[in-house]
Amino acid sequence: MIPYGKQSITQNDINAVIEVLNSDFLTQGPKVPLFEASLVKQCGADHAVVVNSATSALHVACMALGLGAGDWLWTSPITFVASANVALYCGAKVDFVDIDASTYNMCPKKLKNKLQLAKAADRLPKILIPVHMCGQPCEMQEIKNLCDEYSVRIIEDASHAIGAMYHDEPVGSCKFSDITVFSFHPVKIVTTAEGGAALTNSSLLAEKMQLHRSHGVTREQAKMESISHGAWYYEQIDLGYNYRMTELQAALGVTQMQRLSEFNTDRRNLARRYHDELSNLPIRLPAELKNTKSAYHLYVIKLKLDLLNNTRKQVFEELRERGIGVNIHYIPVHTQPYYQALGFKYGDFPEAERFYDEAISLPIFHGMSYDQQDAIIEALKEILE
Ligand SMILES: *Cc1c(COP(=O)(O)O)cnc(C)c1O
Repeated sequence: MIPYGKQSITQNDINAVIEVLNSDFLTQGPKVPLFEASLVKQCGADHAVVVNSATSALHVACMALGLGAGDWLWTSPITFVASANVALYCGAKVDFVDIDASTYNMCPKKLKNKLQLAKAADRLPKILIPVHMCGQPCEMQEIKNLCDEYSVRIIEDASHAIGAMYHDEPVGSCKFSDITVFSFHPVKIVTTAEGGAALTNSSLLAEKMQLHRSHGVTREQAKMESISHGAWYYEQIDLGYNYRMTELQAALGVTQMQRLSEFNTDRRNLARRYHDELSNLPIRLPAELKNTKSAYHLYVIKLKLDLLNNTRKQVFEELRERGIGVNIHYIPVHTQPYYQALGFKYGDFPEAERFYDEAISLPIFHGMSYDQQDAIIEALKEILE
């Protein structure tokens, strides 16, 4: 089975991890700041805080921005559940802004309307989490302008988008947001097995996130309430978690980051080949907005169901039968049983639900051969033509 996504691990990655195993530090050593420095260098933000997953990064980001009981957080219904769940971790309430049919991203016009209504009802969100679906950057300038107007803070969920560009800025620069989050899960572009990062240009937010990733405990005298009792002394000054990344993971992150541009180029090549070869089929191909460069974590096509005799499920199953590991990203979050129990209904976000009915994620990953891709293209042509 050709998987929809797959990590790329070299001997160099393996050696870096073995080196850590032979060193003094398995956690909280020199590799973590080194990995953070590589993210800062790539993205141009001032600070990076690495943690054990993107979910943890989103959580510490929400805590740093003061999300709490009674607050609202809005995100896209087409995302992994974690983008919404983090609001609930903080005791806040979640709502969604429906997507744009061509980018699959949160629609700025729908955001504008929803903000106007929310202001009138006195229930504006504290935080907005736009998700760069598939690696295609959201329309951040429009989103930032709206959020500035209504005093809403922004966390970019860039789990799919390391190496993507928006208006000549790398995603992660935080020029259009307070915090940007990456995921290093093995299916994502860069991997540390499990891992995530939160980037920001605010030293205050960075310090808060560092505190929350490690129990809310500090060893810095300036942050303590009393005078240090001695070299052993630490103080817990807030309630945090153990969200730390290990040295093994950070070492892998450092060597993976050295190949980021190779990963990005390879994925963009594969995306262009799909684009050229699939353009005559009864499907919609992913749009790339002007002034943006997608990172193509995913390549999601949408079936024109009115032109087809097959359902999406049939096309999906026929591809799987031919050894093509297609997948579906994502089941709209508001249709999950847990969210239905919170009061969301089918029909609440119709573009997201239509997207879910039509979408299929084709395999795309660094190291996928042209032969593998040609087999996928041929299979699609046979099934759809
Ligand atoms: C993968 C993913 C996450 C969660 O990432 P983890 O590192 O697995 O916690 C969050 N949001 C989106 C959009 C993702 O794709």
